[in-house]
Amino acid sequence: MEDLDPPRESAAAADAILRQLEDLGLTWDGEVLYQSTRHSAYQEILQDLLERELCYPCDCSRRLVRAMGSVYDGRCRDRERPPAGDRALRLRTEPATYRVDDRVQGHFAQVLERDVGDFVVRRKDGLFAYQLAVVADDAFQRVNRIVRGTDLLDSTPRQLYLQSLLGYPRPGYAHFPVLVNDQGQKLSKQHFAAPADTRQAAALLRRALRFLNHAPPAELASAGELLDWAIGNWDIMRIPAQHCIRASLFE
Ligand SMILES: [Zn+2]
Repeated sequence: MEDLDPPRESAAAADAILRQLEDLGLTWDGEVLYQSTRHSAYQEILQDLLERELCYPCDCSRRLVRAMGSVYDGRCRDRERPPAGDRALRLRTEPATYRVDDRVQGHFAQVLERDVGDFVVRRKDGLFAYQLAVVADDAFQRVNRIVRGTDLLDSTPRQLYLQSLLGYPRPGYAHFPVLVNDQGQKLSKQHFAAPADTRQAAALLRRALRFLNHAPPAELASAGELLDWAIGNWDIMRIPAQHCIRASLFE
């Protein structure tokens, strides 16, 4: 449960997510791991990276970083005196290429130093960055296959780099297309998409399978039947190798 940012993500929101998954007949093995309980593990990793001089403090303002465009220019890397007060910690990147052979999207690669720049592993406000937390948690839970939306494809080379620095095994990846509105924005609360009504679980699952290019027979009526059918007939090669799918095409 990605609850790194407690003021914004309340416990009620986390519970609602779990209830929605249950409504859809989706279950999980073991206890749910909450990122809010993992701070000491993240701190240990950060300490290790600091001792190896792989990260450094940066006090560049958000405005300054934005003015650099999409790649941080590394200006705080070799400062003589570290800035005082609140500061972010950035991880040093290298000119090496990090490649993912994604099971849906195919080959994706970035030269981190050129394409991303040194990236934040702990924010100025003290919160741990998503990239650090997710890599630590996947290794901790021995996750060996990661299935998620293409909005995170771009983060994958950073995560591969962190895995290699920390000596973690590299999982396999499959990035699925995300649903977008007619303006090309991901369907999400941020873009005012209506919440999924999980009282209509079977209809939602049927639609999700259609997005993923799987066509369950019309006579299957319940969420359980649809999931059983999907498990039996699943073919990852049928998933469209696209970054996004317009939701309105399936109405
Ligand atoms: Zn800086």
